[in-house]
Amino acid sequence: MPKTIAEHPALADKFNQDEERVNWHDQTLWWVRAKRDKAAHTLPEWEELRNLASQIKHNVLANLSEYLIQFEENALKNGIQVHWAADAQEHNAIVKSILQKQGVSQLVKSKSMLTEECHLNEYLQQEGIEVIDTDLGERIVQLAEEPPSHIVLPCIHKKKEEIGELFHLHLGTPAGNADPDFLTAAARLHLREKFLTRKIAITGVNFAIAETGEFVVCTNEGNADMGAHLAEVHIACMGIEKLIPLRRHLGVFLRLLTRSATGQPITTYSSHFKKPRPGQEMHIVLVDNGRSRQLGRKDFRNSLKCIRCGACMNTCPVYRRSGGHSYHNAIAGPIGSILAPNLNMKDYADLPFASTLCGSCTNVCPVKIDIHDQLYKWRQVLVQEGYAPAAKKAAMQGMAFTFSHPAFYRMAGKTGKWFMKTTPFVINNNLNPWFKQRDMPEPPKESFHDWYKKNRQQNGHA
Ligand code: SF4
Repeated sequence: MPKTIAEHPALADKFNQDEERVNWHDQTLWWVRAKRDKAAHTLPEWEELRNLASQIKHNVLANLSEYLIQFEENALKNGIQVHWAADAQEHNAIVKSILQKQGVSQLVKSKSMLTEECHLNEYLQQEGIEVIDTDLGERIVQLAEEPPSHIVLPCIHKKKEEIGELFHLHLGTPAGNADPDFLTAAARLHLREKFLTRKIAITGVNFAIAETGEFVVCTNEGNADMGAHLAEVHIACMGIEKLIPLRRHLGVFLRLLTRSATGQPITTYSSHFKKPRPGQEMHIVLVDNGRSRQLGRKDFRNSLKCIRCGACMNTCPVYRRSGGHSYHNAIAGPIGSILAPNLNMKDYADLPFASTLCGSCTNVCPVKIDIHDQLYKWRQVLVQEGYAPAAKKAAMQGMAFTFSHPAFYRMAGKTGKWFMKTTPFVINNNLNPWFKQRDMPEPPKESFHDWYKKNRQQNGHA
């Protein structure tokens, strides 16, 4: 019998201990969501772009192997060294072998959710290699020894005072100074020295173009460019679903990506890498790590269209009030809850249930992934595979029996009403987590069934 876990509720409960933090986390992300709405409304062709992006990605997924081969051929012609990794272990081993060949034990890395997914930092640290994350938010969580809590805003869960304290401890800034401008300037100074002295830079990949063998990396801080242009070796790590067929398709995705992510019209730096500069080595690692398996799951393959904008997290009422760490996975929120069970059903069986299924994620997704439908479908798979908690399973069986037996249903309704009126504490008590944040509703004077009998059936309605 597979073991079931229910980690998300417990971790969300932990996040909810600090009500003030929960409130600004919720409000800040809702503000980002509102910015996204305004930016989307400036483009009359927004829905057309979403449709187009979805169809382009549909074509990519239907012909993934061909596009990958085309990309590899063109990248090789450009002088890029191409590596293939079946899983996270292979990815990490490939990166390590490149570092070993260069004889280096220090590197800079710009934001890459794939390397988070593969736990590259931890792996390299165990091998005695120092990784400096150069995205400001990533550096902050790295100094705090925490994983990112959001794919675009990695330290959104942190208060500025906590960041001031971290910088005081690690970068020597004055104690008590939490001024964001001051702290950013301090981080810039700290990172500049790392950029100038590291021989190897790792970046992620936002889009890889099959037609040309080039790839594009989007950042708001220019840290990927700084790292890649100063380093003697540039390693770009990408999931195999990041492909787009043609360069002109970039116009569709770049217009959608940042508007959806932060409400900006365009990312500050959209950097194109096509070939190594003279004397430089450029590597690209193409990583599967479960993507082929997800491609084979008819109901979930569309999740591979994701361009990692984070909009589904910003809008999700559960994510905003439970925090990214409650998803205990590199990619949090609604899309993470679809991707994670594919990697490990047992460990992530709780995540598809961390949703109200309100559908807001689906409404904002720039590539039109049917996110809430997929969450619902994952629930069915997980229950069928035996991963649903026993109590939930028993409750559902009880509900099914009640709803399919009218006489029992009416009796249960009457009994429930009696309990609500006479002994509400039997249901509304601290042992019942459902009532922790809820009040007992007033019991109705009569059931709908009784009302119907009195008012409609008497008047000749069936
Ligand atoms: S699923 Fe859609 S909304 Fe969510 S991160 Fe991916 S592209 Fe953005």
